[in-house]
Amino acid sequence: MENKYRYEEMMPAEFLEAIERMPVVIVPTGLLEWHGDHLPLGLDALKAHAVCLKIAEKLGGGIVLPPNYYGRPGYSRYAGTLTFSEPLMQLLFTELCDQLRKVGAQVIALITGHYGPCQVNFLKNFAQNYMAEHSGVTLIAKPEYEGVTINGEVPADHAGKWETSMFMYLYPELTHMENYQLDTPIRKIYDNPPHDWYKEKPTWTWKEDLSKSASKELGKQCVDTITDVISTEILAALNA
Ligand SMILES: [Zn+2]
Repeated sequence: MENKYRYEEMMPAEFLEAIERMPVVIVPTGLLEWHGDHLPLGLDALKAHAVCLKIAEKLGGGIVLPPNYYGRPGYSRYAGTLTFSEPLMQLLFTELCDQLRKVGAQVIALITGHYGPCQVNFLKNFAQNYMAEHSGVTLIAKPEYEGVTINGEVPADHAGKWETSMFMYLYPELTHMENYQLDTPIRKIYDNPPHDWYKEKPTWTWKEDLSKSASKELGKQCVDTITDVISTEILAALNA
């Protein structure tokens, strides 16, 4: 069912019908970044993509872009992480939103599966500035977890209980708990990388034993709540 919301799989006639019926484009964004030995490097964007498809399904409309893997730091020093500068990201999102307006988007939801103040603040500032300069379009820019609580907790972490649970639910075939260790070694540390925002330490200690605390059920609860919160916000923006 969710296939009919994927931008890249639409025929021109389907695209035109979809944007006419509901002028909403949802942009899943993340990063290629170290997430322990039990999760893949593309987790953030893959997770956001799956969540955005569920949001479109809930809305019964909207068009979901393919996942974007280019973003702000990020554990820049850790094995496999790729990070990008603010001017590049500014240009990328500006041109993307210009193009999405051209094809008829009236609401653009930038949903980041990659967290941390560097990425989140960038996206929020970008959206605010873009809307100040362009009328006729509403941008929603937020991390998945914003406005969400599960059992009294905000489901935000880095490769911890929440991300691991969501990934177990969304991509069981890409989740490798058999590789998880409470003390996970970082297999490679890069010295003085570009955009070394967080200046992270060369060690990683999990706050809790994920083999006990993470579960597919918790992931589903989390994804369902995120889907409800963001789809409600999109509908409100559309009807404003
Ligand atoms: Zn992450």
